Amino acid sequence: MGNRLLFRLIVCALALCLGSCSGSMLIRPSVQPEDGYLIRGVRVFTGLPGMPLKENMDVHIKGEKIVRISPERLEAPGARVIDGKGKTLLPGLTDFHTHITGGMIVPWGSIMPTMRFNFEGCLYSGVTAVVDMNGKTAEEMNEIASDIEAGKIMGPHLFSCGLGFTGKGAHPMPMLEKLKEKYPWFVHPFFPEIAIEVDASAGMDRLEKQLAAKPDFTKIYLDDLPDGTPKMKAETVSEIVRRSHEQGIPVLIHIGRNEDVKIAVESGADGIAHNVYKEPLDPSIASELARRKMFVTPTVYVFHNLNTFVNDRNYTHYSPLEWETMHSSAVKALKNPEPYNEPKGDSWSDYYRNFRETYTGVLHPNVKALKDAGVTIIAGTDAPNLGIAAGGSLHVELQHLVEGGLTPQEALISATSEPARILREVFRKNVDFGTVEEGKGADLLLVNGDPTKNIRDTENIAAVFFRGSLVDRSH
Ligand SMILES: [Zn+2]
Repeated sequence: MGNRLLFRLIVCALALCLGSCSGSMLIRPSVQPEDGYLIRGVRVFTGLPGMPLKENMDVHIKGEKIVRISPERLEAPGARVIDGKGKTLLPGLTDFHTHITGGMIVPWGSIMPTMRFNFEGCLYSGVTAVVDMNGKTAEEMNEIASDIEAGKIMGPHLFSCGLGFTGKGAHPMPMLEKLKEKYPWFVHPFFPEIAIEVDASAGMDRLEKQLAAKPDFTKIYLDDLPDGTPKMKAETVSEIVRRSHEQGIPVLIHIGRNEDVKIAVESGADGIAHNVYKEPLDPSIASELARRKMFVTPTVYVFHNLNTFVNDRNYTHYSPLEWETMHSSAVKALKNPEPYNEPKGDSWSDYYRNFRETYTGVLHPNVKALKDAGVTIIAGTDAPNLGIAAGGSLHVELQHLVEGGLTPQEALISATSEPARILREVFRKNVDFGTVEEGKGADLLLVNGDPTKNIRDTENIAAVFFRGSLVDRSH
């Protein structure tokens, strides 16, 4: 017993050390005043289709809810009053593509995982919900999500797939091989599994095991990354979708090319992770996505950033909010890059060259092609992959969606009411966020300016509320 107590004390001490070493001081919890908060005279972006904007409103937040939104002056004597003049109140943002338990990967290596810091970066930036696209096992992810909901961990609402499924030797396995070259001592035997390799005859027991743990969705990888590596067979994709749907679990498929989307569409999957990024999106495939009401998270910025990294060798292009939401070790790595040289003829160097010559040029037009076809576009970052900051970089993704042809209002909807609708209708989750309405959950972002006119105003954050409480951002 004494030994166990000692062991627990050591574990606690280590946890505390890791907590402070990981720089987890971006935000602090705060206590809600007796009568909550009263935001006066604020412009409200409701997120509601057809009527997103309301001018000069008083908004009263109490407990975990928005209790009143009124054009008349509201009174709440015990509330903390926040001046909303010149500001816009938005629903908290949802990032529909994260790897929130992981560290940042840069071309010359990898920065150790800092899940808590990623969580804090999200709340600091007004990202109040994330959909995680491959991290730890479904059991572990579910436990983290319930610790967040119970208030044991400060972090955004978390939805996750557990581990993703991929073909034998398919993405992300070559990435792991590359990491092994750099960190042979680290990867084996301690490096956790990064995806589950399956084919039609083997690995379905792993799927059944994960489905039994009730992940929020299933993720499949279907992308030759780097170019020319194997991919999962179409019949295996269909089998995974069939088995997941049988248990009421939706499926999202990571794709790279039109042919991958075709397989995803034919499998009956629910959504597409990334957009076609290796070639122009085929308009007939885009129409089919729209017809089947499949949604797409284009993740423009992460691909754009990969090119900035490996071809432009620029690592310091970030916005102030992104720098603020990057872990100190990431900042250090980006500001002091190590030289790296891809060996000639290496498949990764081909992949990088293709980014420069083709891929980067199709990213924005392919967003336009989705919009023109009427496909539901959802914002996601892939953070903290490839120099993308959890939290801060979602704001930059919105700017890329606008560059791709969305109006600022459409970009805001892609990160607020639409992801919430997908979570309700496709994931069958009982979420009460995503719009600014009376009776809804108070996950809110208050910004200076008007992001419906200038999307960059989302970065000019005045306040963040999570489950009704003001997030203390005075780090
Ligand atoms: Zn990803």
